[in-house]
Amino acid sequence: MLVVMNTNATEQDIERVIRCIESKGFEARVCHGETKSVVHAIGIKETDKRDLKLLNGVFEVLKISTNYRLTSRSFQNDDTVIEVNGIRFGDKYTGLIAGPCAVESYEQMDKTAQELSESNVKILRGGAFKPRTSPYAFQGLGEDGLKILKSVADNHNMAVTSEIMDVSQLDIFMKYVDIFQVGARNMQNFNLLKELGKIHKPVILKRGLSSTFEEWLMSAEYIMAGGNGQIILCERGIRTFEHHTRNTLDLSAIPVIKKLSHLPIIVDPSHGTGLRDKVEPMSRAAIAAGADGLIVEVHHSPDCAMCDGAQSLYPWQYDLLYKQIKQIAPIVGKEIV
Ligand code: PEP
Ligand code: MN
Repeated sequence: MLVVMNTNATEQDIERVIRCIESKGFEARVCHGETKSVVHAIGIKETDKRDLKLLNGVFEVLKISTNYRLTSRSFQNDDTVIEVNGIRFGDKYTGLIAGPCAVESYEQMDKTAQELSESNVKILRGGAFKPRTSPYAFQGLGEDGLKILKSVADNHNMAVTSEIMDVSQLDIFMKYVDIFQVGARNMQNFNLLKELGKIHKPVILKRGLSSTFEEWLMSAEYIMAGGNGQIILCERGIRTFEHHTRNTLDLSAIPVIKKLSHLPIIVDPSHGTGLRDKVEPMSRAAIAAGADGLIVEVHHSPDCAMCDGAQSLYPWQYDLLYKQIKQIAPIVGKEIV
């Protein structure tokens, strides 16, 4: 941390800053420049820099190290690769996940999975506990939904991912799910993140509706600090002033996260745009930008879907998309199976 002093800061001001830095357990080193002095706080502790900002003579306080450590590129230079059912995410691998927003019935899942298996999908998504804005909207089938998801996936040799909403669901999820999904609304459910740090299954951590990259990585840090390094970050759009799309899909997350972290980053173009006709172009763009994967909503009959039909692809559209991105990926040094 660097404390930059005002040009007119006195020796007493600098002394006070040094005492404050030392009281926080850091080593303080002063450097006198031509116009300004800078006090360097050396140490790796976490501290509230506002205490320093409030002191007399302080111009600004700059953090030079990040709050996230285990998830940072400086901790691990090589990309983390996560493998589930032969599908890999990270480094030169791009993994694909597809399926409906919600599990509605056995027939719906089976029809959708059948179509998706023809497009080589190996990881099936489907929400059983749905985080709906309205309490009157379909909330998901709960454990019955997870049972359907797992049994259909088994029949088609697929792995499954589904969203866990609460710590209390952990034991149920352990029985049915290969990849845990933490939804955007739960990105900062720290109790849940801590518990997911103790399990030995991969976690897709979606970016919060209005979270910064740093906040997102700090959430991943919670999981990693608990001992679980199998984290896949998922950009799913953020809330902006724009209303033509459901969210604003922030594809800059891909190069930014790749620079900051070794964790794989995938993209959810379905929630990111909210409209079926935007899903295909944004998926192509995500792959071109080097995404480590996609999670796409697909329904065998989107017009009858109980949840997010408008942003769900028809299976034939997914198939077309799959063929397109398979061609795009090698251009950026990636591989899609
Ligand atoms: C979902 O994947 O079904 C979902 C609710 O996503 P998000 O948490 O990104 O809104
Ligand atoms: Mn959805």
